[in-house]
Amino acid sequence: MGKGFYEVPLAVNEPIKDYAPGSPERKAALAAYKEMYNQTIDVPMYINGKDVATGDTATMSPPHDHKHILGTYHRARKQDAQAAIDTALAARGKWAATPWEQRAAIFLRAAELIAGPYRAKINAATMLAQSKTIYQAEIDASCELIDFLRYNVQYMTEIYSEQPESTSGAWNRLEYRPLEGFIYAITPFNFTAIAANLPASAALLGNVVVWKPSDSQIFSAKILMDIFKEAGVPDGVINVVFGDPVMITDTVLASPDFSGVHFTGSTNVFKGLWQKIGTNIHNYKTYPKIVGETGGKDFIVAHSTSNPIQVATAISRGAFEFQGQKCSAASRAYIPKSIWPAVKKRVIEDVNSFKMGSPEDMSNFITAVIHEGSFDKLASYIDAVKDDSDATIVVGGGYDKSEGYFIEPTVIETTNAKYSTMCTELFGPVITIYVYEDYLWEETLHTVDQTSEYALTGAVFSEDRYALEVAMKILENAAGNFYINDKPTGAVVGQQPFGGARASGTNDKAGSKLNLYRWLSPRMVKETFVTPTDYRYPFLGE
Ligand code: NAD
Repeated sequence: MGKGFYEVPLAVNEPIKDYAPGSPERKAALAAYKEMYNQTIDVPMYINGKDVATGDTATMSPPHDHKHILGTYHRARKQDAQAAIDTALAARGKWAATPWEQRAAIFLRAAELIAGPYRAKINAATMLAQSKTIYQAEIDASCELIDFLRYNVQYMTEIYSEQPESTSGAWNRLEYRPLEGFIYAITPFNFTAIAANLPASAALLGNVVVWKPSDSQIFSAKILMDIFKEAGVPDGVINVVFGDPVMITDTVLASPDFSGVHFTGSTNVFKGLWQKIGTNIHNYKTYPKIVGETGGKDFIVAHSTSNPIQVATAISRGAFEFQGQKCSAASRAYIPKSIWPAVKKRVIEDVNSFKMGSPEDMSNFITAVIHEGSFDKLASYIDAVKDDSDATIVVGGGYDKSEGYFIEPTVIETTNAKYSTMCTELFGPVITIYVYEDYLWEETLHTVDQTSEYALTGAVFSEDRYALEVAMKILENAAGNFYINDKPTGAVVGQQPFGGARASGTNDKAGSKLNLYRWLSPRMVKETFVTPTDYRYPFLGE
Protein backbone atom coordinates (compact mmCIF):
# COMPACT_ATOMS: atom_id res chain seq x y z
CA MET A 1 0.00 0.00 0.00
CA GLY A 2 1.11 3.56 -0.26
CA LYS A 3 -0.86 5.43 -2.88
CA GLY A 4 -4.43 5.21 -1.61
CA PHE A 5 -6.72 3.85 1.08
CA TYR A 6 -8.56 1.39 -1.12
CA GLU A 7 -12.02 0.06 -0.40
CA VAL A 8 -12.63 -3.54 -1.36
CA PRO A 9 -15.95 -4.60 -2.90
CA LEU A 10 -18.50 -5.06 -0.12
CA ALA A 11 -18.73 -8.77 0.65
CA VAL A 12 -22.15 -10.32 0.07
CA ASN A 13 -23.14 -13.97 0.32
CA GLU A 14 -23.11 -15.79 -2.99
CA PRO A 15 -26.72 -16.62 -3.97
CA ILE A 16 -27.41 -20.37 -4.00
CA LYS A 17 -28.57 -21.65 -7.37
CA ASP A 18 -31.53 -24.02 -7.19
CA TYR A 19 -30.69 -26.64 -9.87
CA ALA A 20 -34.33 -27.20 -10.71
CA PRO A 21 -35.05 -29.56 -13.63
CA GLY A 22 -34.32 -27.80 -16.93
CA SER A 23 -32.18 -25.06 -15.36
CA PRO A 24 -28.91 -24.15 -17.10
CA GLU A 25 -26.92 -24.75 -13.90
CA ARG A 26 -28.27 -28.29 -13.64
CA LYS A 27 -27.31 -29.04 -17.24
CA ALA A 28 -23.82 -27.62 -16.72
CA ALA A 29 -23.23 -29.58 -13.49
CA LEU A 30 -24.41 -32.85 -15.01
CA ALA A 31 -22.30 -32.34 -18.13
CA ALA A 32 -19.21 -31.67 -15.98
CA TYR A 33 -20.03 -34.72 -13.84
CA LYS A 34 -20.29 -36.99 -16.88
CA GLU A 35 -17.12 -35.65 -18.42
CA MET A 36 -15.09 -36.18 -15.25
CA TYR A 37 -16.63 -39.59 -14.64
CA ASN A 38 -15.55 -40.77 -18.07
CA GLN A 39 -11.99 -39.45 -17.81
CA THR A 40 -9.12 -40.84 -15.80
CA ILE A 41 -6.88 -38.16 -14.36
CA ASP A 42 -3.46 -38.25 -12.80
CA VAL A 43 -2.98 -35.72 -10.00
CA PRO A 44 0.57 -34.69 -9.18
CA MET A 45 1.48 -32.72 -6.08
CA TYR A 46 2.12 -29.01 -6.54
CA ILE A 47 5.33 -27.59 -5.10
CA ASN A 48 6.88 -24.26 -6.03
CA GLY A 49 4.48 -23.88 -8.93
CA LYS A 50 5.55 -27.20 -10.44
CA ASP A 51 3.78 -30.52 -10.76
CA VAL A 52 5.58 -33.21 -8.78
CA ALA A 53 4.85 -36.84 -9.67
CA THR A 54 6.57 -39.45 -7.52
CA GLY A 55 5.19 -42.58 -9.18
CA ASP A 56 3.98 -43.80 -5.78
CA THR A 57 0.30 -43.57 -6.62
CA ALA A 58 -3.10 -44.35 -5.10
CA THR A 59 -6.47 -44.41 -6.84
CA MET A 60 -9.53 -42.19 -6.40
CA SER A 61 -13.10 -43.54 -6.72
CA PRO A 62 -16.62 -42.22 -6.16
CA PRO A 63 -17.87 -43.44 -2.75
CA HIS A 64 -21.21 -44.28 -4.38
CA ASP A 65 -19.55 -46.29 -7.16
CA HIS A 66 -16.33 -47.55 -5.61
CA LYS A 67 -15.32 -49.95 -8.36
CA HIS A 68 -15.02 -47.08 -10.80
CA ILE A 69 -11.63 -45.36 -10.99
CA LEU A 70 -11.59 -41.58 -11.42
CA GLY A 71 -7.82 -41.38 -11.47
CA THR A 72 -4.68 -41.54 -9.41
CA TYR A 73 -2.71 -39.17 -7.20
CA HIS A 74 0.94 -39.13 -6.25
CA ARG A 75 2.13 -39.60 -2.68
CA ALA A 76 4.92 -37.60 -1.14
CA ARG A 77 8.29 -38.91 -0.09
CA LYS A 78 10.04 -37.26 2.81
CA GLN A 79 12.07 -35.12 0.41
CA ASP A 80 8.87 -33.81 -1.19
CA ALA A 81 7.51 -32.67 2.17
CA GLN A 82 10.87 -31.03 2.84
CA ALA A 83 10.84 -29.39 -0.61
CA ALA A 84 7.38 -27.95 0.13
CA ILE A 85 8.73 -26.38 3.32
CA ASP A 86 11.91 -25.05 1.69
CA THR A 87 10.07 -23.59 -1.26
CA ALA A 88 7.48 -21.93 0.98
CA LEU A 89 10.25 -20.31 3.00
CA ALA A 90 12.00 -19.16 -0.17
CA ALA A 91 8.76 -17.54 -1.40
CA ARG A 92 8.06 -15.86 1.92
CA GLY A 93 10.09 -12.67 1.59
CA LYS A 94 8.49 -11.52 -1.63
CA TRP A 95 4.97 -12.59 -0.69
CA ALA A 96 5.05 -11.05 2.78
CA ALA A 97 6.19 -7.77 1.18
CA THR A 98 3.45 -7.80 -1.48
CA PRO A 99 0.98 -4.93 -0.90
CA TRP A 100 -2.30 -6.09 0.61
CA GLU A 101 -4.37 -4.92 -2.33
CA GLN A 102 -2.46 -7.28 -4.63
CA ARG A 103 -3.09 -10.20 -2.30
CA ALA A 104 -6.74 -9.18 -2.00
CA ALA A 105 -7.12 -9.01 -5.78
CA ILE A 106 -5.79 -12.55 -6.21
CA PHE A 107 -8.29 -14.08 -3.77
CA LEU A 108 -11.21 -11.93 -5.00
CA ARG A 109 -10.37 -13.16 -8.46
CA ALA A 110 -10.40 -16.77 -7.18
CA ALA A 111 -13.91 -16.12 -5.81
CA GLU A 112 -15.12 -14.88 -9.19
CA LEU A 113 -13.53 -17.83 -11.02
CA ILE A 114 -15.50 -20.18 -8.75
CA ALA A 115 -18.71 -18.16 -9.10
CA GLY A 116 -18.37 -18.30 -12.90
CA PRO A 117 -16.19 -20.54 -15.06
CA TYR A 118 -15.26 -23.13 -12.42
CA ARG A 119 -18.62 -23.48 -10.68
CA ALA A 120 -19.91 -26.54 -12.53
CA LYS A 121 -16.50 -28.20 -12.37
CA ILE A 122 -15.84 -27.74 -8.65
CA ASN A 123 -19.41 -28.79 -7.80
CA ALA A 124 -19.23 -31.87 -10.04
CA ALA A 125 -15.86 -32.89 -8.56
CA THR A 126 -17.34 -32.61 -5.06
CA MET A 127 -20.37 -34.67 -6.11
CA LEU A 128 -18.20 -37.34 -7.69
CA ALA A 129 -15.42 -37.87 -5.20
CA GLN A 130 -17.03 -36.76 -1.91
CA SER A 131 -20.51 -38.00 -2.88
CA LYS A 132 -22.45 -34.81 -2.27
CA THR A 133 -25.81 -34.10 -3.86
CA ILE A 134 -25.74 -31.13 -6.21
CA TYR A 135 -27.31 -28.92 -3.53
CA GLN A 136 -24.78 -29.94 -0.88
CA ALA A 137 -21.96 -29.39 -3.39
CA GLU A 138 -23.33 -25.98 -4.38
CA ILE A 139 -23.60 -24.70 -0.78
CA ASP A 140 -20.12 -26.00 0.03
CA ALA A 141 -17.75 -25.97 -2.94
CA SER A 142 -19.25 -22.89 -4.58
CA CYS A 143 -21.16 -20.65 -2.18
CA GLU A 144 -19.32 -21.18 1.10
CA LEU A 145 -15.94 -21.04 -0.57
CA ILE A 146 -16.79 -17.85 -2.47
CA ASP A 147 -18.05 -16.36 0.80
CA PHE A 148 -14.87 -17.32 2.67
CA LEU A 149 -12.75 -15.62 0.01
CA ARG A 150 -14.80 -12.44 -0.24
CA TYR A 151 -15.43 -11.97 3.48
CA ASN A 152 -11.84 -12.71 4.43
CA VAL A 153 -10.66 -9.95 2.11
CA GLN A 154 -13.08 -7.54 3.75
CA TYR A 155 -12.12 -8.68 7.26
CA MET A 156 -8.45 -8.26 6.39
CA THR A 157 -9.05 -4.60 5.52
CA GLU A 158 -11.07 -4.10 8.69
CA ILE A 159 -8.24 -5.56 10.77
CA TYR A 160 -5.60 -3.47 9.00
CA SER A 161 -7.63 -0.35 9.74
CA GLU A 162 -7.77 -1.10 13.49
CA GLN A 163 -5.10 1.32 14.71
CA PRO A 164 -4.08 2.68 18.10
CA GLU A 165 -4.49 6.30 19.05
CA SER A 166 -1.74 8.80 18.35
CA THR A 167 -0.89 12.21 19.76
CA SER A 168 0.44 15.24 17.89
CA GLY A 169 3.93 14.33 19.12
CA ALA A 170 3.95 10.60 18.35
CA TRP A 171 2.40 8.54 15.60
CA ASN A 172 1.47 4.97 16.62
CA ARG A 173 1.11 2.46 13.86
CA LEU A 174 0.19 -1.22 14.05
CA GLU A 175 1.63 -3.23 11.25
CA TYR A 176 -0.11 -6.61 10.82
CA ARG A 177 2.80 -8.80 9.80
CA PRO A 178 2.34 -12.39 8.64
CA LEU A 179 3.90 -15.01 10.92
CA GLU A 180 7.62 -15.54 10.62
CA GLY A 181 8.09 -18.98 9.08
CA PHE A 182 5.40 -21.04 7.33
CA ILE A 183 1.89 -22.34 8.10
CA TYR A 184 0.85 -25.98 7.85
CA ALA A 185 -2.77 -26.50 6.69
CA ILE A 186 -4.28 -29.95 7.23
CA THR A 187 -7.78 -30.34 5.84
CA PRO A 188 -10.67 -32.85 6.11
CA PHE A 189 -12.63 -34.68 3.43
CA ASN A 190 -16.04 -33.28 4.16
CA PHE A 191 -15.94 -29.67 2.91
CA THR A 192 -14.24 -28.50 -0.26
CA ALA A 193 -14.68 -24.96 1.11
CA ILE A 194 -12.73 -25.77 4.29
CA ALA A 195 -10.01 -27.48 2.24
CA ALA A 196 -9.51 -24.25 0.32
CA ASN A 197 -10.05 -21.83 3.17
CA LEU A 198 -7.45 -23.17 5.55
CA PRO A 199 -4.49 -22.53 3.25
CA ALA A 200 -6.08 -19.50 1.53
CA SER A 201 -6.95 -17.50 4.66
CA ALA A 202 -3.38 -17.74 5.93
CA ALA A 203 -1.93 -16.94 2.50
CA LEU A 204 -4.23 -13.92 2.06
CA LEU A 205 -2.55 -12.33 5.10
CA GLY A 206 0.89 -12.76 3.58
CA ASN A 207 1.81 -16.18 4.98
CA VAL A 208 3.28 -19.06 3.01
CA VAL A 209 1.71 -22.48 3.33
CA VAL A 210 2.29 -26.22 3.12
CA TRP A 211 -1.12 -27.81 2.54
CA LYS A 212 -1.98 -31.45 3.11
CA PRO A 213 -5.51 -32.32 1.97
CA SER A 214 -7.39 -35.47 3.00
CA ASP A 215 -6.82 -38.52 0.77
CA SER A 216 -10.59 -38.50 0.17
CA GLN A 217 -10.70 -34.92 -1.14
CA ILE A 218 -7.80 -34.86 -3.59
CA PHE A 219 -10.04 -34.91 -6.67
CA SER A 220 -11.54 -31.50 -5.84
CA ALA A 221 -8.27 -30.27 -4.26
CA LYS A 222 -6.71 -30.53 -7.73
CA ILE A 223 -9.33 -28.12 -9.08
CA LEU A 224 -8.75 -25.76 -6.16
CA MET A 225 -5.06 -25.64 -7.05
CA ASP A 226 -5.93 -24.89 -10.68
CA ILE A 227 -8.14 -22.02 -9.47
CA PHE A 228 -5.47 -20.61 -7.13
CA LYS A 229 -2.95 -20.76 -9.96
CA GLU A 230 -5.24 -19.06 -12.47
CA ALA A 231 -6.15 -16.41 -9.89
CA GLY A 232 -2.48 -15.56 -9.61
CA VAL A 233 -1.22 -17.08 -6.34
CA PRO A 234 2.56 -16.90 -6.91
CA ASP A 235 4.71 -20.03 -7.03
CA GLY A 236 5.72 -21.33 -3.62
CA VAL A 237 2.99 -19.51 -1.66
CA ILE A 238 0.66 -22.53 -1.37
CA ASN A 239 2.37 -25.91 -1.81
CA VAL A 240 0.35 -29.12 -1.82
CA VAL A 241 1.54 -32.53 -0.68
CA PHE A 242 -0.47 -35.76 -0.57
CA GLY A 243 -0.02 -39.05 1.22
CA ASP A 244 1.12 -40.44 4.55
CA PRO A 245 -0.15 -37.91 7.10
CA VAL A 246 2.21 -39.03 9.84
CA MET A 247 5.40 -38.85 7.76
CA ILE A 248 4.42 -35.50 6.24
CA THR A 249 3.40 -34.08 9.61
CA ASP A 250 6.55 -35.29 11.37
CA THR A 251 8.66 -33.69 8.65
CA VAL A 252 6.77 -30.41 8.89
CA LEU A 253 6.77 -30.27 12.69
CA ALA A 254 10.52 -30.92 12.76
CA SER A 255 11.19 -27.64 10.96
CA PRO A 256 12.39 -24.79 13.22
CA ASP A 257 10.45 -22.43 10.92
CA PHE A 258 7.08 -24.09 11.57
CA SER A 259 4.96 -21.20 12.84
CA GLY A 260 1.39 -22.46 12.93
CA VAL A 261 -1.05 -25.23 12.10
CA HIS A 262 -4.47 -24.60 10.61
CA PHE A 263 -6.30 -27.88 11.12
CA THR A 264 -9.80 -29.20 10.63
CA GLY A 265 -10.51 -32.88 11.27
CA SER A 266 -11.02 -35.31 14.10
CA THR A 267 -10.28 -34.62 17.74
CA ASN A 268 -7.70 -37.34 18.34
CA VAL A 269 -5.60 -36.33 15.35
CA PHE A 270 -5.60 -32.74 16.59
CA LYS A 271 -4.63 -33.75 20.12
CA GLY A 272 -1.78 -35.80 18.66
CA LEU A 273 -0.59 -32.79 16.67
CA TRP A 274 -0.69 -30.58 19.74
CA GLN A 275 1.33 -33.13 21.68
CA LYS A 276 4.01 -33.34 18.97
CA ILE A 277 4.23 -29.56 18.77
CA GLY A 278 4.69 -29.48 22.54
CA THR A 279 7.44 -32.05 22.38
CA ASN A 280 9.26 -30.03 19.70
CA ILE A 281 8.72 -26.64 21.34
CA HIS A 282 12.39 -26.00 22.05
CA ASN A 283 13.22 -26.35 18.34
CA TYR A 284 10.95 -23.61 17.06
CA LYS A 285 12.01 -20.04 16.37
CA THR A 286 8.57 -18.79 17.34
CA TYR A 287 5.67 -20.13 19.44
CA PRO A 288 3.48 -21.83 16.82
CA LYS A 289 -0.17 -20.84 16.55
CA ILE A 290 -2.36 -23.92 16.97
CA VAL A 291 -5.80 -23.62 15.43
CA GLY A 292 -8.03 -26.66 15.14
CA GLU A 293 -11.70 -27.24 14.50
CA THR A 294 -12.47 -30.81 15.41
CA GLY A 295 -15.24 -33.31 16.23
CA GLY A 296 -18.77 -32.89 17.48
CA LYS A 297 -21.68 -34.72 19.06
CA ASP A 298 -24.26 -32.16 18.18
CA PHE A 299 -27.63 -32.12 19.86
CA ILE A 300 -31.25 -31.18 19.40
CA VAL A 301 -33.19 -30.74 22.62
CA ALA A 302 -36.90 -30.12 22.46
CA HIS A 303 -39.11 -28.67 25.20
CA SER A 304 -42.68 -29.86 25.64
CA THR A 305 -43.93 -26.55 24.18
CA SER A 306 -42.11 -27.08 20.87
CA ASN A 307 -43.81 -27.87 17.61
CA PRO A 308 -43.27 -31.60 16.88
CA ILE A 309 -43.25 -31.14 13.11
CA GLN A 310 -40.57 -28.45 13.34
CA VAL A 311 -38.52 -30.72 15.59
CA ALA A 312 -38.94 -33.66 13.21
CA THR A 313 -37.89 -31.55 10.23
CA ALA A 314 -34.80 -30.34 12.10
CA ILE A 315 -33.91 -33.99 12.77
CA SER A 316 -34.46 -35.05 9.14
CA ARG A 317 -32.38 -32.22 7.72
CA GLY A 318 -29.93 -31.75 10.57
CA ALA A 319 -29.00 -35.40 10.95
CA PHE A 320 -29.14 -36.73 7.41
CA GLU A 321 -28.09 -34.15 4.84
CA PHE A 322 -24.71 -35.18 3.42
CA GLN A 323 -25.24 -38.46 5.28
CA GLY A 324 -24.59 -36.81 8.63
CA GLN A 325 -20.99 -36.11 7.64
CA LYS A 326 -21.06 -32.48 8.70
CA CYS A 327 -19.23 -31.64 11.88
CA SER A 328 -22.43 -29.79 12.85
CA ALA A 329 -24.80 -32.70 12.09
CA ALA A 330 -27.33 -33.54 14.79
CA SER A 331 -26.47 -36.95 16.18
CA ARG A 332 -28.32 -37.02 19.51
CA ALA A 333 -31.77 -35.68 20.35
CA TYR A 334 -33.70 -35.31 23.58
CA ILE A 335 -37.46 -35.34 23.08
CA PRO A 336 -40.17 -35.02 25.76
CA LYS A 337 -42.50 -37.95 26.11
CA SER A 338 -45.61 -35.91 25.28
CA ILE A 339 -44.51 -34.95 21.77
CA TRP A 340 -42.38 -38.02 20.90
CA PRO A 341 -45.25 -39.95 19.16
CA ALA A 342 -45.81 -37.01 16.77
CA VAL A 343 -42.10 -36.40 16.21
CA LYS A 344 -41.46 -40.10 15.64
CA LYS A 345 -44.32 -40.46 13.16
CA ARG A 346 -43.05 -37.57 11.05
CA VAL A 347 -39.39 -38.61 11.17
CA ILE A 348 -40.31 -42.14 10.07
CA GLU A 349 -42.38 -40.71 7.20
CA ASP A 350 -39.51 -38.41 6.20
CA VAL A 351 -36.86 -41.12 6.29
CA ASN A 352 -39.04 -43.52 4.34
CA SER A 353 -39.50 -40.84 1.68
CA PHE A 354 -35.74 -40.22 1.21
CA LYS A 355 -34.29 -41.59 -1.99
CA MET A 356 -30.75 -42.97 -1.75
CA GLY A 357 -28.27 -43.48 -4.57
CA SER A 358 -25.79 -41.70 -6.81
CA PRO A 359 -25.76 -37.87 -6.77
CA GLU A 360 -25.95 -38.02 -10.56
CA ASP A 361 -29.64 -38.80 -10.07
CA MET A 362 -30.61 -35.46 -8.61
CA SER A 363 -33.77 -36.80 -6.98
CA ASN A 364 -31.59 -38.62 -4.43
CA PHE A 365 -31.48 -36.93 -1.02
CA ILE A 366 -29.01 -39.44 0.45
CA THR A 367 -25.82 -40.66 -1.19
CA ALA A 368 -22.89 -42.75 0.08
CA VAL A 369 -20.60 -42.29 3.09
CA ILE A 370 -17.04 -41.37 2.32
CA HIS A 371 -15.11 -44.65 2.46
CA GLU A 372 -15.09 -48.25 3.55
CA GLY A 373 -13.59 -47.45 6.98
CA SER A 374 -16.49 -45.14 7.73
CA PHE A 375 -19.03 -47.65 6.34
CA ASP A 376 -17.68 -50.51 8.48
CA LYS A 377 -17.63 -48.39 11.63
CA LEU A 378 -21.23 -47.25 11.12
CA ALA A 379 -22.40 -50.79 10.32
CA SER A 380 -20.80 -52.08 13.52
CA TYR A 381 -22.62 -49.51 15.67
CA ILE A 382 -25.91 -50.33 13.94
CA ASP A 383 -25.31 -54.06 14.51
CA ALA A 384 -24.58 -53.46 18.19
CA VAL A 385 -28.01 -51.85 18.63
CA LYS A 386 -29.61 -55.04 17.39
CA ASP A 387 -28.00 -56.89 20.35
CA ASP A 388 -28.42 -54.24 23.05
CA SER A 389 -31.42 -54.27 25.36
CA ASP A 390 -31.36 -50.50 25.99
CA ALA A 391 -31.62 -49.40 22.35
CA THR A 392 -33.83 -50.11 19.36
CA ILE A 393 -33.86 -49.04 15.74
CA VAL A 394 -36.84 -46.82 14.98
CA VAL A 395 -36.24 -46.61 11.24
CA GLY A 396 -33.38 -47.49 8.86
CA GLY A 397 -30.62 -49.80 10.03
CA GLY A 398 -29.79 -51.30 6.63
CA TYR A 399 -26.49 -51.00 4.80
CA ASP A 400 -24.91 -52.27 1.60
CA LYS A 401 -21.43 -51.74 0.20
CA SER A 402 -21.67 -53.90 -2.90
CA GLU A 403 -21.68 -50.89 -5.24
CA GLY A 404 -21.21 -47.86 -3.04
CA TYR A 405 -20.87 -47.23 0.69
CA PHE A 406 -24.58 -46.87 1.39
CA ILE A 407 -25.86 -46.65 4.96
CA GLU A 408 -29.59 -46.14 5.38
CA PRO A 409 -30.48 -43.07 7.43
CA THR A 410 -30.99 -44.59 10.85
CA VAL A 411 -32.85 -43.43 13.93
CA ILE A 412 -32.03 -45.21 17.18
CA GLU A 413 -34.11 -44.83 20.32
CA THR A 414 -32.44 -45.50 23.66
CA THR A 415 -33.56 -45.64 27.25
CA ASN A 416 -30.00 -44.96 28.38
CA ALA A 417 -29.01 -41.29 28.11
CA LYS A 418 -25.35 -42.34 28.11
CA TYR A 419 -25.74 -45.07 25.46
CA SER A 420 -22.61 -45.29 23.25
CA THR A 421 -24.23 -43.59 20.26
CA MET A 422 -25.33 -40.69 22.50
CA CYS A 423 -21.65 -39.99 23.33
CA THR A 424 -19.40 -41.09 20.45
CA GLU A 425 -19.02 -39.16 17.19
CA LEU A 426 -19.99 -41.62 14.43
CA PHE A 427 -19.92 -39.16 11.52
CA GLY A 428 -22.67 -40.78 9.48
CA PRO A 429 -26.44 -40.82 8.94
CA VAL A 430 -27.30 -42.06 12.42
CA ILE A 431 -29.12 -40.15 15.16
CA THR A 432 -30.02 -41.44 18.61
CA ILE A 433 -33.09 -40.25 20.49
CA TYR A 434 -33.51 -40.21 24.24
CA VAL A 435 -37.11 -39.67 25.40
CA TYR A 436 -37.43 -37.85 28.72
CA GLU A 437 -40.30 -37.12 31.10
CA ASP A 438 -41.65 -33.65 30.31
CA TYR A 439 -41.18 -32.32 33.84
CA LEU A 440 -37.44 -33.15 33.80
CA TRP A 441 -36.44 -30.18 31.59
CA GLU A 442 -33.58 -28.87 33.72
CA GLU A 443 -32.22 -32.34 34.54
CA THR A 444 -32.28 -33.18 30.85
CA LEU A 445 -30.38 -30.00 29.98
CA HIS A 446 -27.70 -30.97 32.50
CA THR A 447 -27.54 -34.41 30.88
CA VAL A 448 -27.12 -32.78 27.44
CA ASP A 449 -24.30 -30.66 28.82
CA GLN A 450 -22.46 -33.53 30.47
CA THR A 451 -22.88 -36.40 28.03
CA SER A 452 -20.16 -35.73 25.48
CA GLU A 453 -16.65 -34.32 25.47
CA TYR A 454 -17.59 -32.08 22.53
CA ALA A 455 -19.17 -28.62 22.32
CA LEU A 456 -19.67 -27.76 18.67
CA THR A 457 -23.32 -27.17 17.74
CA GLY A 458 -26.65 -27.61 19.48
CA ALA A 459 -30.27 -26.65 18.96
CA VAL A 460 -33.07 -25.95 21.40
CA PHE A 461 -36.73 -25.96 20.42
CA SER A 462 -39.33 -24.28 22.61
CA GLU A 463 -42.21 -21.81 22.45
CA ASP A 464 -41.63 -20.93 26.10
CA ARG A 465 -39.19 -18.04 26.65
CA TYR A 466 -38.48 -19.05 30.25
CA ALA A 467 -37.59 -22.57 29.14
CA LEU A 468 -35.29 -21.13 26.45
CA GLU A 469 -33.62 -18.88 29.00
CA VAL A 470 -32.93 -21.85 31.27
CA ALA A 471 -31.49 -23.77 28.31
CA MET A 472 -29.26 -20.85 27.27
CA LYS A 473 -27.81 -20.77 30.77
CA ILE A 474 -27.34 -24.48 31.44
CA LEU A 475 -25.96 -25.12 27.95
CA GLU A 476 -23.71 -22.05 27.90
CA ASN A 477 -20.58 -24.13 27.35
CA ALA A 478 -22.17 -27.03 25.47
CA ALA A 479 -21.97 -25.52 21.97
CA GLY A 480 -19.96 -22.89 20.09
CA ASN A 481 -22.85 -22.49 17.64
CA PHE A 482 -26.19 -22.49 19.43
CA TYR A 483 -29.50 -22.53 17.58
CA ILE A 484 -32.95 -21.60 18.83
CA ASN A 485 -35.85 -23.20 16.97
CA ASP A 486 -33.63 -24.20 14.04
CA LYS A 487 -31.52 -27.18 13.02
CA PRO A 488 -27.89 -27.11 14.19
CA THR A 489 -26.32 -27.20 10.70
CA GLY A 490 -25.90 -24.71 7.86
CA ALA A 491 -23.72 -21.91 9.26
CA VAL A 492 -23.21 -19.14 6.71
CA VAL A 493 -19.98 -17.14 6.41
CA GLY A 494 -20.54 -13.54 7.51
CA GLN A 495 -23.68 -14.52 9.42
CA GLN A 496 -22.83 -17.35 11.83
CA PRO A 497 -19.06 -17.59 12.45
CA PHE A 498 -18.39 -21.27 13.08
CA GLY A 499 -16.50 -23.25 15.69
CA GLY A 500 -16.74 -25.05 18.99
CA ALA A 501 -14.92 -25.43 22.27
CA ARG A 502 -14.12 -28.28 24.68
CA ALA A 503 -12.91 -31.21 22.51
CA SER A 504 -14.45 -29.59 19.41
CA GLY A 505 -11.61 -27.19 18.82
CA THR A 506 -9.93 -23.93 19.64
CA ASN A 507 -13.09 -22.03 18.64
CA ASP A 508 -11.30 -19.57 16.39
CA LYS A 509 -14.43 -19.17 14.26
CA ALA A 510 -13.70 -19.88 10.62
CA GLY A 511 -15.22 -17.26 8.35
CA SER A 512 -14.70 -14.41 10.78
CA LYS A 513 -12.07 -11.87 11.76
CA LEU A 514 -11.29 -13.91 14.87
CA ASN A 515 -9.71 -16.61 12.73
CA LEU A 516 -7.64 -14.17 10.69
CA TYR A 517 -6.05 -12.65 13.79
CA ARG A 518 -4.39 -16.01 14.42
CA TRP A 519 -2.30 -15.69 11.24
CA LEU A 520 -0.90 -12.30 12.14
CA SER A 521 1.89 -11.08 14.38
CA PRO A 522 1.38 -7.35 14.86
CA ARG A 523 4.35 -5.02 15.05
CA MET A 524 3.80 -1.83 17.01
CA VAL A 525 5.65 1.14 15.58
CA LYS A 526 5.88 4.35 17.62
CA GLU A 527 7.45 7.30 15.85
CA THR A 528 8.30 10.37 17.93
CA PHE A 529 8.48 13.63 15.99
CA VAL A 530 10.52 15.78 18.36
CA THR A 531 12.80 13.47 20.27
CA PRO A 532 13.74 14.45 23.87
CA THR A 533 17.32 15.50 24.47
CA ASP A 534 17.39 15.71 28.28
CA TYR A 535 16.61 12.85 30.66
CA ARG A 536 15.42 15.19 33.47
CA TYR A 537 11.66 15.30 34.05
CA PRO A 538 10.11 18.53 35.45
CA PHE A 539 9.34 16.82 38.78
CA LEU A 540 13.07 16.48 39.38
CA GLY A 541 13.40 20.28 39.63
CA GLU A 542 14.35 21.98 42.94
P1 NAD B 1 -9.45 -36.89 9.93
O1 NAD B 1 -9.02 -36.44 11.28
O2 NAD B 1 -9.45 -38.34 9.65
O3 NAD B 1 -8.50 -36.22 8.83
C1 NAD B 1 -8.30 -34.82 8.78
C2 NAD B 1 -6.92 -34.57 8.18
O4 NAD B 1 -5.94 -35.03 9.10
C3 NAD B 1 -6.67 -35.31 6.88
O5 NAD B 1 -5.94 -34.49 6.00
C4 NAD B 1 -5.86 -36.49 7.33
O6 NAD B 1 -5.04 -37.03 6.32
C5 NAD B 1 -5.03 -35.88 8.43
N1 NAD B 1 -4.50 -36.85 9.39
C6 NAD B 1 -4.98 -38.06 9.71
N2 NAD B 1 -4.20 -38.66 10.63
C7 NAD B 1 -3.20 -37.79 10.90
C8 NAD B 1 -2.07 -37.81 11.76
N3 NAD B 1 -1.83 -38.86 12.55
N4 NAD B 1 -1.26 -36.73 11.79
C9 NAD B 1 -1.52 -35.65 11.02
N5 NAD B 1 -2.55 -35.58 10.16
C10 NAD B 1 -3.39 -36.63 10.11
O7 NAD B 1 -10.88 -36.25 9.66
P2 NAD B 1 -11.84 -36.43 8.41
O8 NAD B 1 -12.44 -37.81 8.45
O9 NAD B 1 -11.20 -35.98 7.15
O10 NAD B 1 -12.96 -35.36 8.75
C11 NAD B 1 -13.97 -35.62 9.66
C12 NAD B 1 -13.68 -35.04 11.03
O11 NAD B 1 -13.47 -33.64 10.91
C13 NAD B 1 -14.83 -35.20 11.99
O12 NAD B 1 -14.33 -35.49 13.28
C14 NAD B 1 -15.49 -33.83 11.97
O13 NAD B 1 -16.23 -33.53 13.12
C15 NAD B 1 -14.31 -32.94 11.81
N6 NAD B 1 -14.67 -31.65 11.24
C16 NAD B 1 -14.78 -30.59 12.08
C17 NAD B 1 -15.14 -29.34 11.58
C18 NAD B 1 -15.28 -28.17 12.50
O14 NAD B 1 -15.41 -27.06 12.02
N7 NAD B 1 -15.25 -28.37 13.81
C19 NAD B 1 -15.39 -29.19 10.22
C20 NAD B 1 -15.26 -30.30 9.38
C21 NAD B 1 -14.90 -31.52 9.90
